[in-house]
Amino acid sequence: MEHMDHSTQMRDLGLRVTRGRLAVLEVLDQLPHSSAETVVAKVHEDLPDVSIQSVYNVLNDLTEQGILRRFTPPHSPALYETRVNDNHHHAICTSCGRIEDVECAVGHAPCLTPSDDHGMVIQIADVLYQGICEDCRKSGAA
Ligand SMILES: [Zn+2]
Ligand SMILES: [Zn+2]
Ligand SMILES: [Zn+2]
Repeated sequence: MEHMDHSTQMRDLGLRVTRGRLAVLEVLDQLPHSSAETVVAKVHEDLPDVSIQSVYNVLNDLTEQGILRRFTPPHSPALYETRVNDNHHHAICTSCGRIEDVECAVGHAPCLTPSDDHGMVIQIADVLYQGICEDCRKSGAA
């Protein structure tokens, strides 16, 4: 899936294009599924004067605007990525914590129909695959 140019993406939503926002998006294009802490460290490599708080604000704002997706695997801080709106899922290795994207076979949310919706209009089915990755299996960690 092609990434829309982030400046265009923000302008379309009526958001101000700032170098802090662009820096955060660039980091997450390169390192999807990064924690806020990783994003701060990476942004600071190029822009040491951007405050930690402003990076956190950018992450929250862009997640609310739907430009970033946040998900929180078990035993992990919240992770961010720029791949949004395709309802993809994640597979996590429970041994090393490695995370991979998994295309949704259905492609839209919700992709699972609950056996009983309890009268709710279901919007999302969160799917998280958990297992042991190939590297960990080879190294005998599991
Ligand atoms: Zn692993
Ligand atoms: Zn992902
Ligand atoms: Zn799915």
